[in-house]
This record gives sequence, C-alpha cells and structure tokens, in this order.
Amino acid sequence: MTDVQLAPPRAARGYPRIVVPPPGPRARAIVDRDAAWTSTSYIKEYPLVVARGDGAMIEDVDGNRFLDFMAGIAVTSTGHAHPQVVAAVQDAAARFLHICGSDFYYEGMAAICERLARLAPGSSKKRVFLSNSGTEAVDGAIKLARHATRRSAIVAFKGAFHGRTYGGMSLTSSKARQHAGFGPLLPEIYHVPFGYCYRCDFGKTYPSCGLFCVASIEQDLFARQVDPHDVAAIFVEPVQGEGGYVVPPPDYLPALRALCDRHGILLVADEIQCGIGRTGRMFACEHAGVEPDILLTAKGLASGMPLGAIIARESIMRWETGAHGSTFGGNPVCCAAALATLDVVEGGLMANAGAMGDRLLAGLRSRAERHPAIGDIRGLGLMVGMELVADRATRAPAPSLVHALVQRAFANGLLLLAAGRSTLRLAPPLVVDATDIDTGLAIIDECLTALA
Ligand SMILES: *Cc1c(COP(=O)(O)O)cnc(C)c1O
Repeated sequence: MTDVQLAPPRAARGYPRIVVPPPGPRARAIVDRDAAWTSTSYIKEYPLVVARGDGAMIEDVDGNRFLDFMAGIAVTSTGHAHPQVVAAVQDAAARFLHICGSDFYYEGMAAICERLARLAPGSSKKRVFLSNSGTEAVDGAIKLARHATRRSAIVAFKGAFHGRTYGGMSLTSSKARQHAGFGPLLPEIYHVPFGYCYRCDFGKTYPSCGLFCVASIEQDLFARQVDPHDVAAIFVEPVQGEGGYVVPPPDYLPALRALCDRHGILLVADEIQCGIGRTGRMFACEHAGVEPDILLTAKGLASGMPLGAIIARESIMRWETGAHGSTFGGNPVCCAAALATLDVVEGGLMANAGAMGDRLLAGLRSRAERHPAIGDIRGLGLMVGMELVADRATRAPAPSLVHALVQRAFANGLLLLAAGRSTLRLAPPLVVDATDIDTGLAIIDECLTALA
C-alpha cells in the first residue's frame, strides 16, 4: 500500500467565509446563462456556482467559501482535488484517454476489477463489470440477474432510488415525479415496504414486530401476487439514500439474505451511495455480516470521475462473450482515479468516516431536545439523516422546513441537501475533521433556532 495522507493539506482554514451573499454577481451571470440553455429537468437546489474545491471546502466564483456537507451527492469521497487522486488522473490522462475496455486490455482495468472483487464481502470469488454510472450498473444487474436465473420478476422497496434509465427508474419508488409521463415502465417489478422503522408501513414497532416487513414478502407478496420461483432478484439499498438516509435494523439484511436463500433468489445490494467507506466500512452490508450475490457501487468509487461497478459472485457472472458491454465503461482515467481513491479510503478515510460520523450523530443527538422539529436522527458513519417533523407526536413531515434549512445554511456557508420527504441528509466528504463537524453542527443549530 502506498503512503497515504489523511487529508489534503490546508494552509489556513479560512472557511466558511461569505464575502458577498450568494449568488454574487459572477454566480448570477452563470445561473442566468444556465437557465437559458440547460434542460428544464435539472433540479438545481440552490445557486452554488463552483470555481474550485479543496478537501471539504468549496469556493464559488465570487470568492465565497463553503463547508461541504453533501459532497456532490455523496460522490467526492476523498474531498475536492485530493492530490493523490488528481495526480493519478493527470498521469493516466497524459498516457491514453480511451481504448475501450470491452474489446482491449490495460492494466488499470484489470487492477480495479481485481481490487473490487477482493474487497467485496464474503469468501466466494467475484468478477466485476465496469459502467459509467450508477443507473447503468443497476440496469446491468437486472440483465445479469435475469440471465443467470432465467427468471423475470424483481422485488424492490418503497422509498428506493436506483437511477434514471428505464431499469433503474422502474426499480425506483421514492418520488412519483420520477415516473410521471414515462410509462410503460419495466414490467414484473414489485415494490414492498422497507425497514423504515420511524415510519413503519405496518404501524409496528421494532423489535417486537419480529421484522414483519420481511415476513410479509413471503406471506403476502409471494403468496398472493408472484410465485417466488419467478423472482430473479431482490434489489436493496443497505442504507436507503434518496429515500431519506434510512438505516434498517441490524437483523434486516440477514433476514432478506435468508429469504433469498430459501427461494433461490439473488440478493442485489445497491451500494451506489452507501459504499466505498462512507459508512465506516468499505461496504455497508459488512455491518450486517451479509454477502450479497451482486453488489453495485458507483458514486464515491472514483472521487467524482464517472465509474460504476457490478461486482458479482463468479458462479453468477458467467454470461457469454458479447452478452453485455460498454464503450466508455471502465475508462482508463476513471480506473486510475478509482485505484487512487481506494488507496486513500483504505489508508485512513474509512476509519475517519466512522469516527467523524459518530461525532456528527452524537452532536445532533445532544441538540435534539432543544429543537422540537427534530423527529429522528439515524446514520452509519458519514451517512447521517436528520428527519424533521411539524409535530413530534404525530410525526407529520415538514418538507418546507427542510427546504428553508437547506437554503439558510447555504447563505451561512454550509452546503446541505435534503432526502426523502422530510429529511436532511448529511454526507460530507470523508476527509472532514472534528473542526468541520463542529462547524457544521453549529450552523445547523443556528438555522434550526432561527427557523423555529
Ligand atoms: C445515485 C444512485 C443511483 C444512480 O446513480 P447515477 O450515477 O446517478 O446513475 C442508483 N442507486 C443509488 C442507491 C443511488 O444513490
């Protein structure tokens, strides 16, 4: 293993620092130009116009410096412009930009596939397919699961997010807007309630429920709607991402694993958001001691360079030559970025994510009593959700409060994102230190007080 710096060097902290209320004049000009020419489907949460980044800091085009608690949607795992990742990208780019890994060879592709196969949980030998994005990894996994089992039905969860292509979108069930006007979707997809204990679909309480939500897949879905012998796979996010940073109970994934084993169904773990050290382990399903049949990752894998991976047991990834491929998937520059990212994540950032995540959770919990809007606090490592409510007793969601908090934090130099109906998602780059965490907590605290 190469020598690893824990974090990019920071000469002087100097952030957050607001010198002109964002958007400043330069930012506004770019926002206006963007608004005239880009697809109207882009969400654009707030007018952040990035000039550069360094670690957990982002500077906008007007010289404002922000503390980043969203990492470009949990992507920039090693922080912005990590020197080891930048050097690896520059070196690879200077040698060759492309040759097509589906048809030819280069060391980076073999190396990242071997590395991911060895890192994936469980003792069975794995093989790896590389894609350009998360949703492509999901679509490839749907194809692989159907091809390997010769079954067609797929089970996914309410609140799930699996991407925007037809396969990923069909498995998604987090916001109706994401389906509206796009039908027909992929057939034979069944959505069942997730282990979201704060808002149990069955009105039950853990652990006295005995994981009723998992039992009901067998007793309800498999008894009444689809024969389990027709089910190819169950797709699950070990921690739901877009659905609200929902951490299921510790015995939830093991129960799904057992259910799959009883019926010869493949368990597909979508770790596109929660994988690559973010939860304090390389893959989130390691917390539950579960080996999935297929494991998907993308977002944090190459620190922002586009790369996704389907990691499957060798006994499953046996499709014949030409059955699946990609022109760009596994691009050599992206492979180099991923290898450097894994060096840095294994070399200290994963442990840092665990420690800083604990600090963030403890800091939020210690403030919960002072803020009646805080309904639930949950998380694993640096994947922390704070669900806000209009009323603690009824748990009524408070989406407009979440929106106001995100906007106010932005004005105060802290970059946040919402998730689910009413949750603040905290997903800083894994390089954050104790000062960053305490600074973020103080700004969130101030915003909650001001908005109360
Ligand atoms: C973001 C995400 C995807 C889709 O990834 P893209 O790279 O945007 O296509 C799929 N699954 C999960 C869990 C995600 O968070």
